[in-house]
Amino acid sequence: MPAYEYVCKDCGKKFTVFLSVKEYEGHPKIKCPHCTSDNVERTITTFFAKTSKKS
Ligand SMILES: [Zn+2]
Repeated sequence: MPAYEYVCKDCGKKFTVFLSVKEYEGHPKIKCPHCTSDNVERTITTFFAKTSKKS
C-alpha cells in the first residue's frame, strides 16, 4: 500500500497516510492527526537514504 506524505498547514507537522490507489483516486478527505485540521497539503515523498550529518 502506498504511503502519502502530507503536511498540515495549520500546525506545520508532517504525517504519512497509507491509502490504496483506489482510495487516493477517490480524493479522500485527509485530516491532520495532530490537530484534526483538513487544511493539509500533499508533499513529495522522498526516498533518500539516511544522510550522515557532519558538522
Ligand atoms: Zn495539524
